[in-house]
Amino acid sequence: MSKDLKLCPFCGETRLTIEDKQDARDVHVLCKDCGAKTSFDGIRYDVAGRWNIRSVERALKRRIKELEAENKRLREAFPKWQSGEELPELMGEMILIETITGGYRTGSFSGIHSSGAIRYNTFDGLTRTIYPANIARWAYIKALKGAGE
Ligand SMILES: [Zn+2]
Repeated sequence: MSKDLKLCPFCGETRLTIEDKQDARDVHVLCKDCGAKTSFDGIRYDVAGRWNIRSVERALKRRIKELEAENKRLREAFPKWQSGEELPELMGEMILIETITGGYRTGSFSGIHSSGAIRYNTFDGLTRTIYPANIARWAYIKALKGAGE
């Protein structure tokens, strides 16, 4: 295999060759195992580069699939969050979590600040705020649980 050619994106083979058929005016990279080859569009340029880009495309497609699967898991973990229903219930749960993790006293949902911060009233009459970073942390933990981790 030419050291400039990446392995076959279809079968992982390393035995690759550049076939240059001058008489047929065709040049392409050929995988000796599965027969995959670059197409020839009539222009003799950078055949190795055109072959190697397939590995990148395959890696990108794999990553897109991973991200789509993760996105699906997150959407399923937050069906009510998406619709906006049950938001007070969600906030109540967050306050409980904050109580456990941050030592706050429990209270009732008060509102959402334009910054995204959640405000709640404690039992002793104070208004406290849960900042977006903590909300994100909480959501992350919930997402992992929803994803079965
Ligand atoms: Zn192959």
